[in-house]
Amino acid sequence: MVGYHAISMTTLRKFIEKCNIDADIAYDEPMAPHTTFRIGGPADVFARPRTPEALAALLKAARDEGVPVAVVGGGANLLVADAGVRGVVASTELLRGARPDGDGRLFAEAGLPVVVLVRMAMEAGLAGLEFAAGLPGSVGGAAYMNARCYEREFADALVRVDYLEPGTFRPASVAVDRSAWAYKRTPFMPDGALAGAVVVGAAFGLSPGDPASLAARMAELEADRAAKGHFDYPSAGSLFKNDRSHGRPVGRILDELGFKGRRIGDAMVNPKHANIFVNAGEARASDMVALIDEARAAARAAFGVELEPEVAMLGSFQPPARA
Ligand SMILES: Cc1cc2nc3c(=O)[nH]c(=O)nc-3n(C[C@H](O)[C@H](O)[C@H](O)COP(=O)(O)OP(=O)(O)OC[C@H]3O[C@@H](n4cnc5c(N)ncnc54)[C@H](O)[C@@H]3O)c2cc1C
Repeated sequence: MVGYHAISMTTLRKFIEKCNIDADIAYDEPMAPHTTFRIGGPADVFARPRTPEALAALLKAARDEGVPVAVVGGGANLLVADAGVRGVVASTELLRGARPDGDGRLFAEAGLPVVVLVRMAMEAGLAGLEFAAGLPGSVGGAAYMNARCYEREFADALVRVDYLEPGTFRPASVAVDRSAWAYKRTPFMPDGALAGAVVVGAAFGLSPGDPASLAARMAELEADRAAKGHFDYPSAGSLFKNDRSHGRPVGRILDELGFKGRRIGDAMVNPKHANIFVNAGEARASDMVALIDEARAAARAAFGVELEPEVAMLGSFQPPARA
Protein backbone atom coordinates (compact mmCIF):
# COMPACT_ATOMS: atom_id res chain seq x y z
CA MET A 1 0.00 0.00 0.00
CA VAL A 2 1.44 3.37 -1.06
CA GLY A 3 0.45 6.14 1.38
CA TYR A 4 -2.88 6.13 3.21
CA HIS A 5 -5.51 8.73 3.96
CA ALA A 6 -9.21 8.95 3.34
CA ILE A 7 -10.12 10.25 -0.12
CA SER A 8 -13.68 10.87 -1.28
CA MET A 9 -15.18 8.83 -4.12
CA THR A 10 -15.64 12.07 -6.11
CA THR A 11 -11.92 12.80 -5.85
CA LEU A 12 -11.09 9.20 -6.81
CA ARG A 13 -13.38 9.33 -9.87
CA LYS A 14 -11.72 12.60 -10.97
CA PHE A 15 -8.31 11.02 -10.38
CA ILE A 16 -9.14 8.00 -12.55
CA GLU A 17 -10.61 10.20 -15.33
CA LYS A 18 -7.50 12.39 -15.27
CA CYS A 19 -5.20 9.34 -15.45
CA ASN A 20 -6.98 8.18 -18.60
CA ILE A 21 -5.07 4.91 -18.61
CA ASP A 22 -5.77 1.78 -20.65
CA ALA A 23 -7.51 -0.17 -17.89
CA ASP A 24 -10.76 -1.81 -16.94
CA ILE A 25 -12.14 0.27 -14.03
CA ALA A 26 -14.83 -0.63 -11.51
CA TYR A 27 -15.98 1.54 -8.59
CA ASP A 28 -17.08 0.21 -5.20
CA GLU A 29 -16.16 -3.27 -6.42
CA PRO A 30 -16.71 -6.16 -3.96
CA MET A 31 -13.35 -7.85 -3.41
CA ALA A 32 -14.70 -11.25 -2.32
CA PRO A 33 -15.04 -12.57 -5.91
CA HIS A 34 -11.45 -11.50 -6.60
CA THR A 35 -10.08 -13.70 -3.80
CA THR A 36 -10.00 -17.47 -3.37
CA PHE A 37 -11.20 -16.96 0.24
CA ARG A 38 -14.35 -15.31 -1.20
CA ILE A 39 -14.12 -12.79 1.66
CA GLY A 40 -13.83 -9.00 1.68
CA GLY A 41 -15.72 -5.74 1.27
CA PRO A 42 -15.51 -3.32 -1.65
CA ALA A 43 -12.48 -1.57 -3.10
CA ASP A 44 -13.20 2.10 -3.81
CA VAL A 45 -11.58 1.57 -7.22
CA PHE A 46 -10.66 -1.79 -8.75
CA ALA A 47 -8.39 -1.14 -11.74
CA ARG A 48 -7.16 -3.77 -14.17
CA PRO A 49 -4.55 -2.18 -16.45
CA ARG A 50 -4.25 -3.83 -19.86
CA THR A 51 -0.52 -3.22 -20.25
CA PRO A 52 2.49 -2.95 -17.91
CA GLU A 53 2.86 0.67 -19.13
CA ALA A 54 -0.71 1.46 -18.05
CA LEU A 55 0.00 -0.11 -14.64
CA ALA A 56 3.13 2.05 -14.30
CA ALA A 57 1.18 5.18 -15.32
CA LEU A 58 -1.49 4.44 -12.69
CA LEU A 59 1.09 3.89 -9.94
CA LYS A 60 2.95 7.09 -10.86
CA ALA A 61 -0.23 9.17 -10.95
CA ALA A 62 -1.33 7.73 -7.60
CA ARG A 63 2.07 8.58 -6.11
CA ASP A 64 1.85 12.15 -7.40
CA GLU A 65 -1.71 12.66 -6.12
CA GLY A 66 -1.24 10.85 -2.78
CA VAL A 67 -3.83 8.18 -3.65
CA PRO A 68 -3.27 4.88 -1.82
CA VAL A 69 -2.73 1.88 -4.13
CA ALA A 70 -2.42 -1.83 -3.41
CA VAL A 71 -1.34 -4.33 -6.08
CA VAL A 72 -2.95 -7.77 -6.23
CA GLY A 73 -2.63 -10.79 -8.51
CA GLY A 74 -4.90 -13.82 -8.34
CA GLY A 75 -6.08 -13.11 -4.78
CA ALA A 76 -5.06 -16.63 -3.71
CA ASN A 77 -3.11 -15.49 -0.67
CA LEU A 78 -5.22 -12.56 0.38
CA LEU A 79 -7.57 -11.78 3.27
CA VAL A 80 -9.49 -8.58 2.52
CA ALA A 81 -11.12 -6.66 5.38
CA ASP A 82 -14.92 -6.63 5.74
CA ALA A 83 -14.79 -2.84 5.39
CA GLY A 84 -13.02 -3.24 2.06
CA VAL A 85 -10.11 -1.19 0.74
CA ARG A 86 -9.89 2.58 0.49
CA GLY A 87 -8.21 4.02 -2.58
CA VAL A 88 -7.21 1.93 -5.60
CA VAL A 89 -6.67 -1.81 -5.87
CA ALA A 90 -4.58 -2.43 -9.00
CA SER A 91 -4.98 -5.97 -10.31
CA THR A 92 -2.55 -7.60 -12.74
CA GLU A 93 -5.33 -9.90 -13.97
CA LEU A 94 -5.29 -8.61 -17.57
CA LEU A 95 -1.49 -8.82 -17.96
CA ARG A 96 -1.49 -12.34 -19.36
CA GLY A 97 1.11 -12.39 -22.13
CA ALA A 98 3.52 -15.31 -22.44
CA ARG A 99 6.23 -16.21 -24.94
CA PRO A 100 9.45 -18.20 -25.39
CA ASP A 101 12.40 -16.24 -23.98
CA GLY A 102 15.45 -17.80 -25.56
CA ASP A 103 16.56 -21.40 -25.47
CA GLY A 104 14.68 -23.42 -22.85
CA ARG A 105 13.11 -20.34 -21.35
CA LEU A 106 9.57 -19.10 -20.96
CA PHE A 107 8.53 -15.54 -20.15
CA ALA A 108 5.16 -14.72 -18.60
CA GLU A 109 3.51 -11.47 -17.62
CA ALA A 110 2.60 -11.05 -13.96
CA GLY A 111 -1.11 -11.74 -14.27
CA LEU A 112 -0.85 -15.07 -16.07
CA PRO A 113 -2.34 -17.79 -13.84
CA VAL A 114 0.40 -20.17 -12.68
CA VAL A 115 -1.68 -23.15 -13.82
CA VAL A 116 -1.70 -21.75 -17.39
CA LEU A 117 2.08 -21.25 -17.31
CA VAL A 118 2.63 -24.79 -16.03
CA ARG A 119 0.45 -26.20 -18.81
CA MET A 120 2.25 -24.12 -21.46
CA ALA A 121 5.63 -25.42 -20.27
CA MET A 122 4.37 -29.01 -20.39
CA GLU A 123 2.97 -28.55 -23.91
CA ALA A 124 6.28 -27.02 -25.04
CA GLY A 125 8.16 -30.04 -23.63
CA LEU A 126 9.86 -27.95 -20.93
CA ALA A 127 10.41 -29.43 -17.47
CA GLY A 128 10.91 -27.56 -14.19
CA LEU A 129 7.51 -26.07 -13.40
CA GLU A 130 5.36 -29.16 -12.97
CA PHE A 131 5.76 -28.94 -9.17
CA ALA A 132 3.38 -25.95 -9.34
CA ALA A 133 0.53 -27.84 -11.04
CA GLY A 134 -2.74 -26.82 -9.38
CA LEU A 135 -1.18 -23.84 -7.56
CA PRO A 136 -3.77 -21.03 -7.47
CA GLY A 137 -2.70 -17.44 -8.17
CA SER A 138 -0.64 -15.47 -10.67
CA VAL A 139 2.97 -15.55 -11.84
CA GLY A 140 3.56 -12.15 -10.17
CA GLY A 141 2.10 -13.31 -6.86
CA ALA A 142 4.12 -16.55 -6.95
CA ALA A 143 7.33 -14.59 -7.66
CA TYR A 144 6.52 -12.08 -4.92
CA MET A 145 5.81 -14.88 -2.40
CA ASN A 146 8.37 -17.41 -3.71
CA ALA A 147 5.50 -19.89 -3.70
CA ARG A 148 6.63 -23.35 -2.64
CA CYS A 149 5.20 -26.82 -2.93
CA TYR A 150 6.36 -30.41 -3.17
CA GLU A 151 9.89 -29.52 -2.01
CA ARG A 152 10.44 -26.97 -4.77
CA GLU A 153 9.94 -23.22 -4.95
CA PHE A 154 9.58 -20.60 -7.65
CA ALA A 155 13.12 -19.31 -7.15
CA ASP A 156 14.36 -22.74 -8.33
CA ALA A 157 12.97 -22.03 -11.81
CA LEU A 158 13.10 -18.22 -12.03
CA VAL A 159 16.01 -16.68 -13.92
CA ARG A 160 14.84 -13.08 -14.21
CA VAL A 161 12.10 -10.89 -12.77
CA ASP A 162 10.89 -7.75 -14.55
CA TYR A 163 9.48 -5.13 -12.23
CA LEU A 164 8.53 -1.49 -11.79
CA GLU A 165 11.05 0.22 -9.53
CA PRO A 166 9.86 1.26 -6.09
CA GLY A 167 8.92 4.96 -6.05
CA THR A 168 9.72 5.79 -9.68
CA PHE A 169 7.85 2.84 -11.23
CA ARG A 170 10.36 2.77 -14.09
CA PRO A 171 10.77 -0.67 -15.73
CA ALA A 172 13.75 -2.68 -14.50
CA SER A 173 14.93 -6.30 -14.35
CA VAL A 174 16.82 -8.39 -11.85
CA ALA A 175 18.60 -11.69 -12.46
CA VAL A 176 17.55 -14.12 -9.76
CA ASP A 177 20.41 -14.51 -7.29
CA ARG A 178 19.42 -17.60 -5.34
CA SER A 179 21.10 -16.31 -2.16
CA ALA A 180 18.60 -13.41 -1.95
CA TRP A 181 15.65 -15.82 -2.03
CA ALA A 182 14.66 -18.22 0.75
CA TYR A 183 11.61 -19.99 2.14
CA LYS A 184 8.75 -17.51 1.53
CA ARG A 185 11.34 -14.68 1.44
CA THR A 186 12.02 -12.58 -1.65
CA PRO A 187 13.65 -9.21 -2.38
CA PHE A 188 10.15 -7.85 -3.14
CA MET A 189 8.78 -8.31 0.37
CA PRO A 190 8.61 -5.40 2.85
CA ASP A 191 12.04 -6.14 4.38
CA GLY A 192 13.71 -6.91 1.01
CA ALA A 193 16.04 -4.85 -1.18
CA LEU A 194 13.26 -4.28 -3.75
CA ALA A 195 10.40 -3.62 -1.31
CA GLY A 196 7.65 -1.62 -2.99
CA ALA A 197 8.56 -2.83 -6.50
CA VAL A 198 5.76 -4.31 -8.58
CA VAL A 199 6.45 -7.49 -10.53
CA VAL A 200 5.33 -7.20 -14.17
CA GLY A 201 6.84 -10.36 -15.62
CA ALA A 202 9.18 -13.27 -15.03
CA ALA A 203 11.42 -15.54 -17.09
CA PHE A 204 11.84 -19.20 -16.20
CA GLY A 205 14.82 -21.38 -17.09
CA LEU A 206 13.63 -24.89 -17.94
CA SER A 207 15.06 -28.12 -19.31
CA PRO A 208 13.80 -30.51 -21.99
CA GLY A 209 11.09 -32.90 -20.82
CA ASP A 210 8.67 -35.41 -22.25
CA PRO A 211 5.17 -33.81 -22.32
CA ALA A 212 3.42 -37.10 -21.45
CA SER A 213 5.61 -37.66 -18.36
CA LEU A 214 5.24 -34.03 -17.31
CA ALA A 215 1.45 -34.25 -17.70
CA ALA A 216 1.40 -37.44 -15.62
CA ARG A 217 3.37 -35.78 -12.80
CA MET A 218 1.06 -32.75 -12.94
CA ALA A 219 -2.03 -34.95 -12.69
CA GLU A 220 -0.48 -36.77 -9.72
CA LEU A 221 0.15 -33.51 -7.84
CA GLU A 222 -3.29 -32.10 -8.67
CA ALA A 223 -4.86 -35.31 -7.34
CA ASP A 224 -2.76 -35.07 -4.19
CA ARG A 225 -3.96 -31.49 -3.59
CA ALA A 226 -7.56 -32.57 -4.09
CA ALA A 227 -7.12 -35.53 -1.69
CA LYS A 228 -5.68 -33.19 0.96
CA GLY A 229 -8.86 -31.10 0.76
CA HIS A 230 -7.27 -28.02 -0.84
CA PHE A 231 -10.32 -27.37 -2.98
CA ASP A 232 -13.11 -28.52 -0.63
CA TYR A 233 -13.84 -24.94 0.51
CA PRO A 234 -12.76 -21.44 -0.49
CA SER A 235 -9.41 -20.76 1.22
CA ALA A 236 -6.03 -19.11 0.76
CA GLY A 237 -4.07 -22.35 1.08
CA SER A 238 -1.81 -22.62 4.13
CA LEU A 239 -2.63 -19.90 6.62
CA PHE A 240 0.71 -19.91 8.45
CA LYS A 241 4.25 -20.12 7.10
CA ASN A 242 5.57 -23.63 7.36
CA ASP A 243 9.36 -23.50 7.48
CA ARG A 244 9.44 -26.32 10.03
CA SER A 245 11.50 -24.17 12.41
CA HIS A 246 8.98 -25.32 15.03
CA GLY A 247 10.24 -28.89 14.67
CA ARG A 248 7.14 -30.13 12.83
CA PRO A 249 4.62 -28.82 10.33
CA VAL A 250 2.23 -26.13 11.54
CA GLY A 251 -0.66 -28.36 10.47
CA ARG A 252 0.47 -31.00 12.96
CA ILE A 253 0.88 -28.43 15.76
CA LEU A 254 -2.67 -27.14 15.23
CA ASP A 255 -4.00 -30.68 14.88
CA GLU A 256 -2.44 -31.62 18.25
CA LEU A 257 -4.23 -28.58 19.70
CA GLY A 258 -7.57 -29.84 18.37
CA PHE A 259 -8.01 -27.15 15.73
CA LYS A 260 -9.29 -29.33 12.87
CA GLY A 261 -12.89 -28.26 12.29
CA ARG A 262 -12.66 -25.38 14.85
CA ARG A 263 -15.04 -22.63 13.82
CA ILE A 264 -15.84 -18.99 14.51
CA GLY A 265 -18.90 -17.98 12.51
CA ASP A 266 -18.27 -19.37 9.04
CA ALA A 267 -14.49 -19.13 9.41
CA MET A 268 -13.33 -22.71 9.93
CA VAL A 269 -10.18 -24.79 10.12
CA ASN A 270 -10.29 -27.39 7.34
CA PRO A 271 -11.33 -30.70 8.96
CA LYS A 272 -8.72 -32.48 6.77
CA HIS A 273 -5.79 -30.06 7.19
CA ALA A 274 -5.27 -27.88 10.27
CA ASN A 275 -3.10 -25.26 8.51
CA ILE A 276 -5.77 -24.51 5.92
CA PHE A 277 -8.37 -22.06 7.19
CA VAL A 278 -11.51 -21.94 5.09
CA ASN A 279 -14.66 -19.99 4.37
CA ALA A 280 -17.41 -22.49 5.20
CA GLY A 281 -20.19 -20.24 3.90
CA GLU A 282 -20.45 -16.50 4.45
CA ALA A 283 -17.32 -16.01 6.57
CA ARG A 284 -16.41 -12.50 7.60
CA ALA A 285 -12.80 -11.36 7.65
CA SER A 286 -13.26 -10.44 11.33
CA ASP A 287 -14.19 -14.08 12.12
CA MET A 288 -11.16 -15.31 10.19
CA VAL A 289 -8.89 -12.92 12.10
CA ALA A 290 -10.41 -14.10 15.41
CA LEU A 291 -9.73 -17.74 14.43
CA ILE A 292 -6.15 -16.86 13.42
CA ASP A 293 -5.59 -15.05 16.72
CA GLU A 294 -6.98 -18.03 18.64
CA ALA A 295 -4.66 -20.46 16.85
CA ARG A 296 -1.61 -18.24 17.42
CA ALA A 297 -2.44 -17.83 21.11
CA ALA A 298 -2.97 -21.59 21.57
CA ALA A 299 0.35 -22.46 19.85
CA ARG A 300 2.17 -19.85 21.92
CA ALA A 301 0.64 -21.05 25.21
CA ALA A 302 1.10 -24.79 24.56
CA PHE A 303 4.45 -24.91 22.75
CA GLY A 304 5.96 -21.42 22.97
CA VAL A 305 5.95 -21.13 19.15
CA GLU A 306 5.12 -17.96 17.26
CA LEU A 307 3.08 -18.81 14.17
CA GLU A 308 3.61 -16.32 11.33
CA PRO A 309 0.66 -15.80 8.96
CA GLU A 310 1.56 -16.28 5.31
CA VAL A 311 -1.68 -14.76 4.06
CA ALA A 312 -1.46 -11.06 3.12
CA MET A 313 -4.01 -8.77 4.80
CA LEU A 314 -5.52 -5.98 2.74
CA GLY A 315 -7.71 -3.11 3.99
CA SER A 316 -8.43 -1.87 7.47
CA PHE A 317 -8.67 -4.51 10.22
CA GLN A 318 -9.77 -2.22 13.06
CA PRO A 319 -10.81 -4.12 16.18
CA PRO A 320 -14.55 -3.62 16.81
CA ALA A 321 -15.32 -0.90 19.39
CA ARG A 322 -16.01 -2.44 22.81
CA ALA A 323 -19.54 -2.03 24.18
C1 LIG B 1 -6.15 -24.05 -2.51
C2 LIG B 1 -4.85 -23.28 -2.38
C3 LIG B 1 -3.65 -23.95 -2.30
C4 LIG B 1 -2.44 -23.26 -2.17
N1 LIG B 1 -1.27 -23.95 -2.12
C5 LIG B 1 -0.10 -23.28 -2.02
C6 LIG B 1 1.14 -23.98 -2.01
O1 LIG B 1 1.20 -25.20 -2.13
N2 LIG B 1 2.28 -23.25 -1.90
C7 LIG B 1 2.26 -21.89 -1.80
O2 LIG B 1 3.33 -21.27 -1.72
N3 LIG B 1 1.10 -21.19 -1.81
C8 LIG B 1 -0.08 -21.85 -1.92
N4 LIG B 1 -1.25 -21.16 -1.95
C9 LIG B 1 -1.23 -19.69 -1.83
C10 LIG B 1 -1.15 -18.98 -3.19
O3 LIG B 1 -1.44 -19.88 -4.23
C11 LIG B 1 0.24 -18.40 -3.42
O4 LIG B 1 0.67 -17.61 -2.34
C12 LIG B 1 0.25 -17.55 -4.70
O5 LIG B 1 1.58 -17.35 -5.05
C13 LIG B 1 -0.43 -16.19 -4.51
O6 LIG B 1 -0.42 -15.53 -5.77
P1 LIG B 1 -1.54 -14.45 -6.12
O7 LIG B 1 -1.29 -13.95 -7.48
O8 LIG B 1 -2.88 -15.01 -5.89
O9 LIG B 1 -1.22 -13.31 -5.07
P2 LIG B 1 -2.27 -12.38 -4.30
O10 LIG B 1 -3.04 -13.19 -3.32
O11 LIG B 1 -3.04 -11.57 -5.26
O12 LIG B 1 -1.27 -11.43 -3.50
C14 LIG B 1 -0.46 -11.98 -2.46
C15 LIG B 1 0.63 -10.96 -2.13
O13 LIG B 1 1.45 -10.80 -3.28
C16 LIG B 1 1.51 -9.43 -3.67
N5 LIG B 1 1.52 -9.39 -5.14
C17 LIG B 1 0.69 -10.04 -5.98
N6 LIG B 1 1.04 -9.78 -7.26
C18 LIG B 1 2.11 -8.95 -7.20
C19 LIG B 1 2.93 -8.31 -8.18
N7 LIG B 1 2.70 -8.49 -9.49
N8 LIG B 1 3.94 -7.53 -7.77
C20 LIG B 1 4.18 -7.34 -6.45
N9 LIG B 1 3.44 -7.89 -5.47
C21 LIG B 1 2.42 -8.69 -5.85
C22 LIG B 1 0.23 -8.79 -3.10
O14 LIG B 1 0.40 -7.40 -2.90
C23 LIG B 1 0.09 -9.56 -1.80
O15 LIG B 1 0.89 -9.01 -0.80
C24 LIG B 1 -2.46 -21.83 -2.10
C25 LIG B 1 -3.69 -21.15 -2.19
C26 LIG B 1 -4.88 -21.86 -2.34
C27 LIG B 1 -6.16 -21.10 -2.46
